[in-house]
Amino acid sequence: MLYREDAVVLRTWKLGEADRIVNLLTRGHGKVRAVAKGVRKTTSRFGARLEPTSHIAVQLYQGRELDIVTQAEAVDTFRSIRGDLDRFAGASTMLEAVDQVAQERQSVPRIHELLLGALRTLDATDPPLVVPGFLLKLLAIEGLRPLVDACVVCGDGDDLVAFDPSEGGALCRAHRRGAAVSSEAFRLLQMVLGGQLGAALNEPASPATHEVSHLATEAMEHHLERRLPSSTLLDRV
Ligand SMILES: [Zn+2]
Repeated sequence: MLYREDAVVLRTWKLGEADRIVNLLTRGHGKVRAVAKGVRKTTSRFGARLEPTSHIAVQLYQGRELDIVTQAEAVDTFRSIRGDLDRFAGASTMLEAVDQVAQERQSVPRIHELLLGALRTLDATDPPLVVPGFLLKLLAIEGLRPLVDACVVCGDGDDLVAFDPSEGGALCRAHRRGAAVSSEAFRLLQMVLGGQLGAALNEPASPATHEVSHLATEAMEHHLERRLPSSTLLDRV
């Protein structure tokens, strides 16, 4: 059975001499693992379109274990991301998080929309909170929204001073543990998770955006129980 999908390439591996396996995040079928045959030959018609971050219109043949890519057209190749190591590192973090979180053949259109929106923003303007904003929203979609406007122990919202991902979020002065967090960083976390992501993306780089980057990565890594690939490159402020 052939089917068409709108997809983002999450990851690729070499297979044999000329083939490649690709992990795609599709809009309608969730994560799909597929074989692209012959794409590593220079004569391949669509090899270059099957690189991580590419947004593609793809036709697939449903196989028993792996699907087969039969056509791929570029929708957007995100040139600025490809041409900038920092942006590519940020994109790689997002792709890795989605690859870990998304389930095969379980469609979650919100993750697809969130990822495309974040890639477009990263490609166009690269604001400081695009990657951390993405990671926090992805946690929220997964049902793991960190509590950022009240202490996870006592519910007090007035004097928040720390954040601990293993506790699920913010902590007040009386219950502090985990990393110390500034009130400005809490303001940004509340914007991102309180429906004002657009406004948060207009925030200029600052020590607080740097803090939010670290907290978002830490929270996602805690959930995934593994390090994200570019967390060492997060010093992007
Ligand atoms: Zn408390």
